[in-house]
Amino acid sequence: MKIALLSRNKNLYSTRRLVEAAENRGHRIQVIDVLRCYMNIASHKPTIHYRGEELSDFDAVIPRIGASVTYYGTSVLRQFEMGGVYPLNESVAITRSRDKLRSLQLLSRKGIGMPVTGFANKPDDIKDLIKMVGGAPLVIKLLQGTQGIGVVLAETQKAAESVIEGFMGVGADILVQEYIKEAGGADIRCFVIGGKVVASMKRQAQPGEFRSNLHRGGSASLIRITPEERSTAVRAAKIMGLNVAGVDLLRSNHGPVVMEVNSSPGLQGIEEATGKDVAGAIIAFIESNRKLGRTATKGKG
Ligand code: ADP
Ligand code: MG
Repeated sequence: MKIALLSRNKNLYSTRRLVEAAENRGHRIQVIDVLRCYMNIASHKPTIHYRGEELSDFDAVIPRIGASVTYYGTSVLRQFEMGGVYPLNESVAITRSRDKLRSLQLLSRKGIGMPVTGFANKPDDIKDLIKMVGGAPLVIKLLQGTQGIGVVLAETQKAAESVIEGFMGVGADILVQEYIKEAGGADIRCFVIGGKVVASMKRQAQPGEFRSNLHRGGSASLIRITPEERSTAVRAAKIMGLNVAGVDLLRSNHGPVVMEVNSSPGLQGIEEATGKDVAGAIIAFIESNRKLGRTATKGKG
């Protein structure tokens, strides 16, 4: 196969591993910086140009689109889809997953467990919003945040009120969530490929911190997940329409709750914690599922 890997940095662990895995399995793979792609959408034949040349004859495309380039990145991916190239994850599914609120609404509609969550833009009654999600302590999140930035734990009613007022003052969309204290600063990352959890790890926040993100100093270790956690992760990925997803769960008193579903989950933490060849599993999935021109939406989304 000839595979396009949309990634802005050749040196990132995930990028390097995917290149290595594809080449080891006998494929050709080209790393492409989406921001440098330019496209022709005026003619019948959608084309993509890169460094003065047309990109053509790709069998599959692996999107690794950073949160800050979601808009342009998904439009380049859509262009590949319109040209009939098989996407590992489809552009519509990525767009969906990048909006925390939209994701939670979709998951809740299908009965997936999640922390009690409220969202607001300019509520007249902040006290009622806080009461609605069960009062302090609670977690307040910026809708577009990532890597733990913009996630705040408000331990008291007063702190919650002032943080909410502060975010509102700058016009940010926020989400207000029940704090799952019993998770003890740990969450579980389930790496799902094609409807199976292929690897899972526990991430533990450093002492004094409740956010377990590795970017915030959390540490990863191997964990055995329960059948309920496994099926929750698989269902969440399916509802989002993602072939490959990192589903983050918290262990709550009322069973596993989904915090978020990531459409470009990193490979370093999970491969190092589990010793598994996750990159190889991704390429193997493409080998057995790729069908030319057979994306669900053909770039229509
Ligand atoms: P981001 O997209 O920035 O990673 P998350 O929603 O994943 O935002 O939150 C970051 C971290 O904060 C999580 O990995 C988890 O450890 C912690 N956290 C988030 N929400 C809750 C919650 N409702 N209860 C307990 N811990 C939480
Ligand atoms: Mg997270």
